[in-house]
Amino acid sequence: MVARLLRAALAVIAGLSSLLLPAGNGSAQVIRSGAPGCRAVALTFDLCPVRQGVGYDAALIDYLIEHRIPATFFASGRWIRKHDAEMKQLLAVPFFEMGTHGQVHAHLATLDEGQQQEEIIGAVDLLKARYGVAALLFRPPYGEFNDLTVEVVKKLGLQFILWNVVSGDPDPSLSADKMLAHLTASTRGGGMIVFHANGKGEHTREVVTTLSQEFFPKQGLKPVTVTELLSCAPQAKP
Ligand SMILES: [Zn+2]
Repeated sequence: MVARLLRAALAVIAGLSSLLLPAGNGSAQVIRSGAPGCRAVALTFDLCPVRQGVGYDAALIDYLIEHRIPATFFASGRWIRKHDAEMKQLLAVPFFEMGTHGQVHAHLATLDEGQQQEEIIGAVDLLKARYGVAALLFRPPYGEFNDLTVEVVKKLGLQFILWNVVSGDPDPSLSADKMLAHLTASTRGGGMIVFHANGKGEHTREVVTTLSQEFFPKQGLKPVTVTELLSCAPQAKP
């Protein structure tokens, strides 16, 4: 009797959650990874605004281009305004994908709906106006959001992309070895790793080099863009 009631209750809950999160509508949910068992990973690089320095890790980008490693970038509007040449370089690479990261890198959860919408759509509109690029992937600054953010992102028709593996690359106290130990222990097929390409990651290029030359081939993992990862089906490990 109890078990039957429990099953009935679970069925109601399942029905409700499928109503709240319509299947097939990727913009309705917060995406942290691809399908587990997919033999691919997404390297993602945030382009947060910087007050000092060049704000662009040219050595990292050159490495990715030279080795034809697909990558997804999340650019903030403030960063885009200061990096026209760099943005053109990134947009010209066919295996790079561009998403947005807010206009001024605001703490979204502290803002009301109108302010959140303004912060989110600012960088999207800027990319469209300046470069004719429709960027559908969105990542909230600091990874911070609330229910309102999810609603606004859905309303704007964007896909809400977080991550499931943190590289920790902006932390100056973290050595490359420590980062690699954490990354190799926590990255699985379908994983999305967050890095920075705004020059704040002292060891980002070194870590990405080791992952792409040693760890990924050994694990049979292929770097892909976020969009490719989201359509990647689980496969048996070769
Ligand atoms: Zn950021």
